[in-house]
Amino acid sequence: LPTAPDGATPVRVLTIAGSDSGGGAGIQADMRSFALMGVHACVAVTAVTVQNSTGVSGYQAIDPPIVADQIRAVVTDIGIGAAKTGMLASSAIINAVVSTCADLGIGGDGDIPLVVDPVCASMHGDPLLAADALDDLRAALIPRATIVTPNLDEVRLITGIDVVDEKTQRAAARALLDLGARWALVKGGHLRSSDRSPDLLLGAGGSGETELEIDHERIDTGHDHGAGDTLAAALTAALAHGYSVPDALRFAKGWVTRCLIAAYPLGAGHGPVNPLW
Ligand code: PLP
Repeated sequence: LPTAPDGATPVRVLTIAGSDSGGGAGIQADMRSFALMGVHACVAVTAVTVQNSTGVSGYQAIDPPIVADQIRAVVTDIGIGAAKTGMLASSAIINAVVSTCADLGIGGDGDIPLVVDPVCASMHGDPLLAADALDDLRAALIPRATIVTPNLDEVRLITGIDVVDEKTQRAAARALLDLGARWALVKGGHLRSSDRSPDLLLGAGGSGETELEIDHERIDTGHDHGAGDTLAAALTAALAHGYSVPDALRFAKGWVTRCLIAAYPLGAGHGPVNPLW
């Protein structure tokens, strides 16, 4: 991505997400990537997780009006080129984020692209979204998404579709477009049976569907904590630079692949992807 000259205001983005005390996922993953991509990251904290390399043992959600006020404060002063949502924890936070984004022209028909990473659980299966919030995720948040980026577990929770091959992957992407997202990315990285990591992007354009398949050899690492956040962060930065969604995905896939190659062990569990390659 192009970077601003020294002393000039860089492109700005906003991440609306949870904190990972282990420093691997969530806001910390986003900020590590954003800093290295040369974009300024504003942050609306949604929850504070108690987390290390072995999992998430608890979290405290932030009051929804405080989440909304963080978004409003930065967008009306600093201004942003794109925004991203990650862990939203509850229905009340989803609804506060959606109505604030609607007011400020973020996502939907607004001018500011919105990347929705529909975070539901950690890789260890620890819940990061209340079970009763799925309806609002489907009915309120996904319709605002410029692009929604679920992994296969999230696809199953949101659409009920078990992705096992290309056909079910396409059906899942279509189901996400039917929920109202402009673009749907169904990531194949969790198709563990495959030695590839095929991602399918489907767009609901005015003149019919646009499809892009991005395939990469699976990066065989036990350390992929924060990979989903990092991909969504790279998408957000590229969209803030004015890239089209398919071009933003090409950039983001390259970014996360290099972060996976450089991932490192940390603690007794899973280490994080590493944007410091
Ligand atoms: N913690 C927070 C705050 C997150 O936002 C996420 C994912 O987005 C995770 C943990 C889970 O990351 P992973 O699935 O890579 O363990």
